[in-house]
Amino acid sequence: MMFIDSHAHMLSRTTDDYEAMAAAGVVAVIEPAFWLGQPRTHVATYIDYLSSIVGFERFRAGQFGIRHYCTIGLNSKEANNQELAEGVMEILPRFALKEGVVAIGEIGYDDQTELEDKYYRLQIDLAIELELPVMVHTPHRDKKRGTSRSMDVCEEHGINPSMVVIDHNNEETVREVLDRGFWAAFSIYPSTKMGTERMVELLKVYGSERIIVDSACDWGISEPLGVAKTAALAAQKGIDEETIRLVCYQNALDAYGQSGQMKEEDWLNPPAIDQRTVYEGNSILRGQREPVVGKLQSKHTLDNLIIK
Ligand SMILES: [Zn+2]
Repeated sequence: MMFIDSHAHMLSRTTDDYEAMAAAGVVAVIEPAFWLGQPRTHVATYIDYLSSIVGFERFRAGQFGIRHYCTIGLNSKEANNQELAEGVMEILPRFALKEGVVAIGEIGYDDQTELEDKYYRLQIDLAIELELPVMVHTPHRDKKRGTSRSMDVCEEHGINPSMVVIDHNNEETVREVLDRGFWAAFSIYPSTKMGTERMVELLKVYGSERIIVDSACDWGISEPLGVAKTAALAAQKGIDEETIRLVCYQNALDAYGQSGQMKEEDWLNPPAIDQRTVYEGNSILRGQREPVVGKLQSKHTLDNLIIK
């Protein structure tokens, strides 16, 4: 089965992770622009970061057999630095129009401050103007209210809910998100957001319509095989294959494919892996390492499907 991990901060992950994901069936990842664990203090570092996720990271993923897309945005935490935020808003349009950018995101609320609200709204307007989908990061604290408010603002700005993916849902938020016509994504993230067993239970209740499973793997304790493990556990627990295909693959493609930047033929007919190739003069190889040309070998397996 093919999988799409529609929320994966691959910049923070290793080549082992790419190999494991490819071996598990992940054909494409979407890397949302987010913060790096500590706030950036200059617009220039933002420019370099956005350049990486539309540039070298896309190239690096390709060298491990995975198609890489990204979303562009000012995240909620850094929206609280107004000087930085103003500068970032100026440069966003030029990045949002680059090849492989499938949405504005991840944007939304963290502490639900006034500045977060201001830049969330401005970026929804930008998405409408550029006809791009939106990826919404819902807050960890006061989640239910933050999720409702995120959707209220979308409605107020007149963006079609079919263009908006509300991410990091849980049992408390999913019903309202689906009832209001938005896409409901779930991050399979150990110990804090959503585990595989809970996700399978949710699939039993809600089925597959507008539900998306992702890993949100990043620099924290996280699991790049979250999508593949959910799929394997779901199959083990008797969820039908079509439901699994929809929530672990097709729905993400339908939602983010609305950008016109992500198509199945990208991975059905991918360029052959050739690690001798370079990106702006640099390859993924270090020192005298033998380049892989053609097929990748991987030592990884899908043992231990349970993510708590
Ligand atoms: Zn994220």
